[in-house]
Amino acid sequence: RAKKRGRSQYCYFALEMEEQAQSRAMLERDLRAALHLQQFTLHYQPVVDLASGTICGVEALLRWQHPERGFISPATFIPFAEQNGLIRELGEWVLWQACRDIADVRRRFPHLGYVAVNVSARQWRLQDMSALVGQVLNSTGLPAQQLVLEITEQSFIDDLAFVSRELRSLQLMDVRVLLDDFGTGYSSLSYLKRLPVHGLKIDRSFIHDVTEHPEGAALVRATLAIADSMKLAVVAEGVETSQQRDWLLGEDVRHAQGYLYARPMPLDELLALLEATHGRLTITEQPLQVVS
Ligand code: C2E
Ligand code: MG
Ligand code: MG
Ligand code: MG
Repeated sequence: RAKKRGRSQYCYFALEMEEQAQSRAMLERDLRAALHLQQFTLHYQPVVDLASGTICGVEALLRWQHPERGFISPATFIPFAEQNGLIRELGEWVLWQACRDIADVRRRFPHLGYVAVNVSARQWRLQDMSALVGQVLNSTGLPAQQLVLEITEQSFIDDLAFVSRELRSLQLMDVRVLLDDFGTGYSSLSYLKRLPVHGLKIDRSFIHDVTEHPEGAALVRATLAIADSMKLAVVAEGVETSQQRDWLLGEDVRHAQGYLYARPMPLDELLALLEATHGRLTITEQPLQVVS
C-alpha cells in the first residue's frame, strides 16, 4: 500500500478510478442479474393518521439483498438504475409486486388504505406509465383509489408537459400522485405549479429541523401554507420523536410516517402488525427505537 502511494499521485488516482470503474461495472452486471435471481424484495412502512394513530396506508420501499455485498440501499442503486435504463424493468417489477401484495393484504384487512409506490422521474420517459398502471390495477384487482404514486426526483424532468399529461390521465383513473421529498433537490415550487399532483411529502430533513431550529419550523409552516392554499394533501416524512409528532399535530398536519411509528418491514411483519394492532399504532412515550 505504502509503495503504491509512493508512486506518482497520478498513478495512484488512476488506479483508484479504475477500481471504481470496475466496481461500477460489477454493480451494473449484478443489478441486471438481480431481477432474474429474485434478489429484490419490497418492505412496507406504515403511513399513519397523526391524530388517531390509524394506519392509512403503506409505502413500498425496494430492498436489494446482494449475495456477497449484503444489503444494498436503494439510495445507492436507484440512481444507477436510472442512468442505465434498468429502472424501467425494476420499476415495473415494483409496481406489480406492490399492487399484488397489497391487494392480497386487503382481502384480510379491508380497512388498510393505500399502497404508495415510488416512481422515478426517468420512468415516465421510458414507458407508458398510465397504460402500465391500468394494466396492473386490472389484473391485480387493486382499486385505483388504493394506489398512490410518489414522484421521486434525481434529475430535472426535461419534459414537464409530457409528464403532466400522463399525470392527468392517472388522475382520471382515480390514481393519486404525490411529489416526494418536497423542498429538496429538484422537487420544488416550479413542479407544484406545472404538475397536477394530489399532494406532497415534506422531506425528512425538514421534519428533523422543526423542533431544532426556529428557521426549520418556519420553512415547514410556509410549505404547509402553500399546500393549504393549493388544496394539496401533506404527508410528513421521517417523524422520529414525539416532539416532532406534537409539533405537526399543532400545525394540523394529518399524515405522517417515520421510525416513531414503524420502520419499513417485510410483508409478513406487516401482516403480523395489522393483526396485533387492528390497524391502529399507539405510540408510547418512549419510542422503541429512535435512530438519528
Ligand atoms: P423516499 O421515497 O423518500 O422514502 C423514505 C425513506 O426514508 C426510506 O429510505 C425510509 O426507509 C426512510 N425513513 C422512513 N422513516 C424514517 C425515519 O423516521 N428516519 C429516517 N432516518 N429515515 C426514515 P429507503 O428505503 O432507504 O429509500 C431511500 C429512497 O430510495 C426513497 O426515498 C426513494 O427515493 C428511493 N426508493 C426506494 N424504493 C424505491 C422504488 O421502488 N422505486 C424508486 N424509483 N425509488 C425507490
Ligand atoms: Mg417515497
Ligand atoms: Mg420521500
Ligand atoms: Mg425523503
